[in-house]
Amino acid sequence: MISNMISQCSRSKSLKTSFQTKMEHRVTSDGKCNSKGAPPLASSYDAQIRPLLDAVDRLRDLKVMQEGIELPTIVVVGDQSSGKSSVLESLAGISLPRGQGICTRVPLIMRLKRDKSAVSPQIQLQYKDETIQITTEFGITAAINKATDEIAGSGKAISNIPLTLVVSKEDVPDLTMVDLPGITRVPVQGQPENIYEQISGIIKEYISPKESIILNVLSAAADFTICESIQMSRQVDRNGERTLAVVTKVDMAPEGLHEKVMADDVKIGLGYVCVRNRVGDESYDEARVEETKLFETHPLLSKIDKSIVGVPMLAQKLMMIQAASISKCLPDIVKKINEKLSFNVKELNNMPRNLSTMTDAMKAFMKVLISIKETLKKILILREYDEYPDDLEMHGVARIVDMLTQYSQELPVNPHMISEGEFLMEEIIFLEEAKAIGLPNFLPESTFKTLLKRKIDGISHFPIEFVKKVWNYVEKVVIKVLLKHSDNYPQLQSSMTMAAQNLIEKMTKQSCQSVQRMIDVERVGAYTSNPDYMATWCSLMGKQDHFMDLLHNHSECSILNLDRFGKFNVDHLRQQQKEIAEKAFDLRMRMIAYWRSVELRLVDGPALHILYSIQKLVEVEMDEEILNEIAGDSGKGLEKMLEESPSVARKRDRLRKSVELLEESKQVVATIIDRIALLDD
Ligand code: GDP
Ligand code: MG
Repeated sequence: MISNMISQCSRSKSLKTSFQTKMEHRVTSDGKCNSKGAPPLASSYDAQIRPLLDAVDRLRDLKVMQEGIELPTIVVVGDQSSGKSSVLESLAGISLPRGQGICTRVPLIMRLKRDKSAVSPQIQLQYKDETIQITTEFGITAAINKATDEIAGSGKAISNIPLTLVVSKEDVPDLTMVDLPGITRVPVQGQPENIYEQISGIIKEYISPKESIILNVLSAAADFTICESIQMSRQVDRNGERTLAVVTKVDMAPEGLHEKVMADDVKIGLGYVCVRNRVGDESYDEARVEETKLFETHPLLSKIDKSIVGVPMLAQKLMMIQAASISKCLPDIVKKINEKLSFNVKELNNMPRNLSTMTDAMKAFMKVLISIKETLKKILILREYDEYPDDLEMHGVARIVDMLTQYSQELPVNPHMISEGEFLMEEIIFLEEAKAIGLPNFLPESTFKTLLKRKIDGISHFPIEFVKKVWNYVEKVVIKVLLKHSDNYPQLQSSMTMAAQNLIEKMTKQSCQSVQRMIDVERVGAYTSNPDYMATWCSLMGKQDHFMDLLHNHSECSILNLDRFGKFNVDHLRQQQKEIAEKAFDLRMRMIAYWRSVELRLVDGPALHILYSIQKLVEVEMDEEILNEIAGDSGKGLEKMLEESPSVARKRDRLRKSVELLEESKQVVATIIDRIALLDD
């Protein structure tokens, strides 16, 4: 499919140049060969343009733009009453609603088709899936006004829903253009306050795609540099590369026009064409004769180069630009259609089949369950994040390790950090209260244990908070994965989510209990087989003599240096009984040496517990819990699967329609590309 797409694209690209050259040649020669200077409108008709235009129009009919595929379009913009509708009238030779104030309130797609065999004009108005045949040219205005009222209401409001007017006539150029409401700053009575924003919104929607050709209609009397429509088109086409200017009402303001057009202060890349539209009750033929006469005889207007005046010249230029634009855009359109098509086909294939039996439902459900399990295993155990490469929050193991690191950093690394008051005073108070009738040189074990309990209580909230935080995070990951994999069965999602939440709540409770037990164990007994304890205590006790010296020798500095465990002021201890201070020192050194073991156990224990519990959740418990919820209770949950949810049905329907549309569009472009290839041969 992809290679086919690429070959189609490259083929049409290579065809483009020769086709465009042919086009340009054709139009230019038509323009020149007419000795009267005013070629009949349709004289530049070329059999080569029609199929291209038809193809693009067909794509437009198919509403391929709804799929985000832009089509080359000539968009008519201009300030209000600058003469947009009049220009279209002149090109088509038919009457459109025109006048002062706002008459064009919805986009009007005007499709002109030259039909040599047409005895009388064939006119159709299409909107909202309706097609109205208009039998007389005079009926057009009424039909458009009626359709506009239906779409935008009968007041002055506007809408972006377009009307399509198809005009098949003997003497029109093959062109498709969109007429838009004119830009106005000041709302008239009955118009919403934000009319300017509404209109400029519609205009921007049409002129922003780079495929659009902007036909900027300017009144000859206007100062081009301050025209709203110029300012707006320059926002999307800075250098004017896809902007053509049409200057209207030249009969009303001929002074200085030649100079204005030559100066090109507003950067119009595709050039200017000056026209005189129909005035009053003139017929279209009369209007053309008057226009020719005006540009030939008027003292000022006759100075303007003939290659940029008159409606026929405008028609030729537009056809040329249109053909060039279509052939330039075609490869991209092919590419986009193919891309969109293959994406939607894949989406459609991934949609679940309609399930008719409980066995089918069970199979489909098991598939969902297995996919959830596999993904969770990757995220929470195996560290494989290919399904969520850019979503760091879903990189489970890494995030849990972050939490563990943060937890172990928060945990005080030595008991000083949770001691209150001055150095050793806590120990001294406890020793005072534990005094007994007995030999003085025994350190009561109960005092150590009481102190230890106090220290453990001081940090017991940390491990509990840590496990709660991890489960909270795991719950978020689980729910996200679960919703993603059960996307096609929204009818199951709430029960599945609930089952997962209940399970995780249960597991959080269990974890809190386990960790609480670890804390309780630490509070009750003091034991370690770690040789580090004795080594640290011995090395700290090596400082005891120095400590005692500091207490006795009042003239010495009162700072005790315990190296990595810190520096302490001992001045307040010089008043204490030396014997009790000595005992307090020993007590503190034992605590410091022992604390390292406590800390290690309180980090490693919860960490291993979490590792184990998450594994249990993913490997066993989650499946069981969800299976019980959905398939238990005689399969009530599974029954729900037999009925397709309306949102999935809608999605399937939308995808089917879109695939159909894109396949037809693909056919349309394939045919036209083959035609171009034939012409090229
Ligand atoms: P729109 O609002 O831009 O669509 O402007 P219209 O096409 O409705 O024209 C506004 C008014 O200007 C109408 O009364 C037209 O008859 C008039 N008008 C447009 N073009 C010309 C022109 O070239 N010469 C003269 N004299 N009047 C024109
Ligand atoms: Mg108009």
